[in-house]
Amino acid sequence: MVHSPTVALKPPTYADVERAAQTLEGVAHRTPVLTSQSLNKTLGAEVFFKCESFQRTGAFKFRGAYNALSNLSSAHKKAGVVAYSSGNHAQAIALSGQLLGISTTIVMPHDAPSAKRAATEGYGAQVVLYDRYTEKRDEIAARLAEQHGLALIPPFNHPDVIAGQGTAGKELFEQVGELDAFLVCMGGGGLVSGCALAASVLSPACEMYGVEPEAGNDGQLSFRSGKIVTIDPPRSLADGAVTTAVGDLTFAIMQKNLKDVLTVSDQALVETMQWFAQRMKLVVEPTGCLAAAAVMQGGLAIKPGMRVGVLVSGGNVDLASYGQLMAGSINAS
Ligand SMILES: *Cc1c(COP(=O)(O)O)cnc(C)c1O
Repeated sequence: MVHSPTVALKPPTYADVERAAQTLEGVAHRTPVLTSQSLNKTLGAEVFFKCESFQRTGAFKFRGAYNALSNLSSAHKKAGVVAYSSGNHAQAIALSGQLLGISTTIVMPHDAPSAKRAATEGYGAQVVLYDRYTEKRDEIAARLAEQHGLALIPPFNHPDVIAGQGTAGKELFEQVGELDAFLVCMGGGGLVSGCALAASVLSPACEMYGVEPEAGNDGQLSFRSGKIVTIDPPRSLADGAVTTAVGDLTFAIMQKNLKDVLTVSDQALVETMQWFAQRMKLVVEPTGCLAAAAVMQGGLAIKPGMRVGVLVSGGNVDLASYGQLMAGSINAS
């Protein structure tokens, strides 16, 4: 009997981020850092965009998924893994499994976009569909894990996932040096807490911020009140950040290392997507625009000469809704 690795896990440290970086060496892309002279001029600051939209599978989630799968026990490697996600975590797990020769099962809502399902199956995962109105995906995943001895890999609340995501931050500091502030797109907080571990060692004076959609501000409520707050399933264009609560592991790191959690409106996300397309020739998904939107819309007070890191977390958006959003319709879905 193999046990799921999700119980009683030790919070990760920067040493785990370093180990993850070794695991990912030559496997994950070292993504580029881009800048905009016109934005820097307007703000009187230096903004560094870490473009994880160019990561394998189109989002940073490959880092955490590959690290987590690499660290599984040999029993779990043989039995395989299960994850629930309709988005970037699913594709990241599927590709990681393919690369490592580990079988993967993804629990996905029956009405998930067909392109996402096809991409996940294309990486060799087995997709199990569920009805999101009558069934619970975590229960289905837990049942599969128990029946088949699979390891359940959650999208953010797992030490190896957090450490893997932190390698994006580690890389940014290696690429551009120390920063005054670093803003990171945030759902369950895996990415921001991993990056905060990197900052705590590589740029200790850097102020770390998570940025959430206004409608899904559970992280802000939790951070500011000092205890994890659960909200109703939010509606936002930022579909990769509509979590209802942060995790206990991510929250502990956030509390210790973040300066604050900021929010941005869906309207700001659309304007930022358009700016990325027009000015930087970048395709960024709505969730990937969260951190940039906080900088553009004045959510963070920028002082002259400040050096600011912005994590651009992903670029997976289907073309039909991308077209609508470029044309200015906020109701695309
Ligand atoms: C998952 C995801 C996020 C949120 O990451 P967390 O680790 O859950 O905070 C942000 N952006 C994109 C593109 C994502 O796929």
